[in-house]
Amino acid sequence: MPPRIDLHCHSTASDGTLAPAELVRRAAGEGVELLALTDHDTMDGVPEAAEQARREGIRLLPAAELSVDFRGRTLHVVGLNMDPDTPVLREGLARLQALRAARGEAIGRRLEQRCGLEGATEAARAVAGEAALTRSHYARALVAAGHVPDAEQAFKRYLKRGRPAYVRAQWVPMAQALDWIREAGGLPVLAHPLGYGFTGAWLRRVLEAFVEAGGVGLEVVAGRRTQPRMIEQLAGYCHKYSLMGSVGSDFHHPGNPFVELGRLPPLPAGIRPVWEAC
Ligand code: MN
Ligand code: MN
Ligand code: MN
Repeated sequence: MPPRIDLHCHSTASDGTLAPAELVRRAAGEGVELLALTDHDTMDGVPEAAEQARREGIRLLPAAELSVDFRGRTLHVVGLNMDPDTPVLREGLARLQALRAARGEAIGRRLEQRCGLEGATEAARAVAGEAALTRSHYARALVAAGHVPDAEQAFKRYLKRGRPAYVRAQWVPMAQALDWIREAGGLPVLAHPLGYGFTGAWLRRVLEAFVEAGGVGLEVVAGRRTQPRMIEQLAGYCHKYSLMGSVGSDFHHPGNPFVELGRLPPLPAGIRPVWEAC
């Protein structure tokens, strides 16, 4: 069996449900040999994950998934193998965390005032623990309170763009976030390129700007979007824009709807694996 690699997953440091050490233990149990912890806009889980990775004898890449703005749209960029002590990165992540916290509060106010869901903020905070409040935390709290049958419905009814508790986020410009990643010695990889609902023309515009700003990789094998024609399309973009390929489950939580750690098809032949550059 080829070595299992997973360069995209979340712990309780953001909106995952497993603590960093548990996540690494689970990955090792699934046969993953190279793992990147990519919590949203934070590297707080990395020390604990790195310690556990040493115990398990697997390699951990310190990483994060940054929320960035490109012409008014939100994109996710994974910064792989970053030095968390780089000042410009630390300040940048702190800024994103502050934006995230403010947005989290605003979502709670809307759920309470516009949707009549009393105590929504407090319930989500209990779910989030020490992590900054995200929409996923609200979704889980709404499910637990019986307001919706599952997290997907929470997004559909309340949280996604166009719904009453949606709050537009003011993230940092993509080029700026890519500067932080590169300054920290990391490799910028565009996460789940087919997960934004962009048209082909828009995606090409995004990719041109991404490469222009110093982006080097594309998640060719991404979480639940691993149908052969999707992988083929993304491999085509790698060739067109000279990008390396990455693979990531985007694991948040054991069980559906998430893909298990490391359970991913391989990168197509002819695509340079981004981890070879890490
Ligand atoms: Mn998430
Ligand atoms: Mn994402
Ligand atoms: Mn993710």
